[in-house]
Amino acid sequence: MGQSELCWTANAFLFLLFLPGILGWGREGHYMICKIAEKYLTEDALSMVKELLPSYAEGDLAAVCSWADELRAHPDYHWSGALHYVDTPDFFCNYKCSRDCHDNYRHKGRCVTAAIYNYTMQLESAYKEITSEIKYNLTEALMFLSHFIGDVHQPLHVGFVGDIGGNLIKVSWYRRRTNLHHVWDTMIIDSALKRFYHSNLLLMIQAIQNNISDEWHNEVSAWRNCTVNQTTCPNPYASESVSMACKYAYKNATPGSVLEDSYFLSRLPVIEKRLAQGGIRLASTLNRIFASEGKVAEI
Ligand SMILES: [Zn+2]
Repeated sequence: MGQSELCWTANAFLFLLFLPGILGWGREGHYMICKIAEKYLTEDALSMVKELLPSYAEGDLAAVCSWADELRAHPDYHWSGALHYVDTPDFFCNYKCSRDCHDNYRHKGRCVTAAIYNYTMQLESAYKEITSEIKYNLTEALMFLSHFIGDVHQPLHVGFVGDIGGNLIKVSWYRRRTNLHHVWDTMIIDSALKRFYHSNLLLMIQAIQNNISDEWHNEVSAWRNCTVNQTTCPNPYASESVSMACKYAYKNATPGSVLEDSYFLSRLPVIEKRLAQGGIRLASTLNRIFASEGKVAEI
C-alpha cells in the first residue's frame, strides 16, 4: 500500500465535527447506481448484503442508497456531512489524497475517499473475522459505503474548493435558476428521464445496463480493476471525477450561464457512464469484501 493510499489513516476515525455539506447525486442517481450494482453481485455478496440490510429495505440495496443524504439533517449524523465529497485546489484538475482529503477545519481523513476506505475496512474486518469482536454497525457501514461510492463518481463531488464543487456557480438550467452542482446531481438526470425515458427510472437503468453489456463491454474489466491486494480503490475514481469536472462540468458553465440543449446533450453520456462505473465498482468492492477465501482471485 503506497503513501497515497495510507494518507487518510491518521485521523480517519475523528468523524466528530458539525459541518455543513453538499448533497450527493439526487435520489435517482443513487438508486440507479445501486440497482446496477445489484446485477453484478456474486451469490456470496448478495446474500451478505441481504443479511445486513435493514428490514424496511425488503432485500433491495437500491432502496437505502440515499439513506446517507436523508440523515444528514439529523443532529446525530451531522458529523457525516464532510464525507460526501472532497474539494480540490481551483483549476489544478487533479486529486491528491494527502493534499486534499480533509474537512473545512483541515482534519485529515474526513472526505469521501477516506470514508470509502473506512467503511470497506469495517465490513471486511467483520466478515473475515480479522477482529474477534464486532465493534461497528455493519448495516450503516453497508449503507454509507454504497452511497459514498456513488458520490465519488459525481464529477463535482471532487470539484474546486473556491466554488464548493460548483455550488457557488449560479446558472440557469433552461429557464430554471439553480447552481452547477445541482445540475450535475439532479437536473441532467431529471431532464433525461423526462425527454428520453418517459419519466421511468427503470427504463433509464435498462438503457445503461444495455450499454454496459454492449458499447462499454470492453472497458468494464478495467473499471473493476483495483491495485493488487486492495479491496477498494477510491483515489483513482476521485482523480477521474475532477478531471471530468474540468473537461465537462465547468466548461462553458460560468456564473450566469444559461445551460440548454448543447450542454445537456453533450454531458448526459458522461453522466450515464459515471452511473455505470459507480454501479460496477460498488459491486466489485462488495464482491471483494464478501469473497470467500480462494474466490478473491476470480473477482
Ligand atoms: Zn451524498
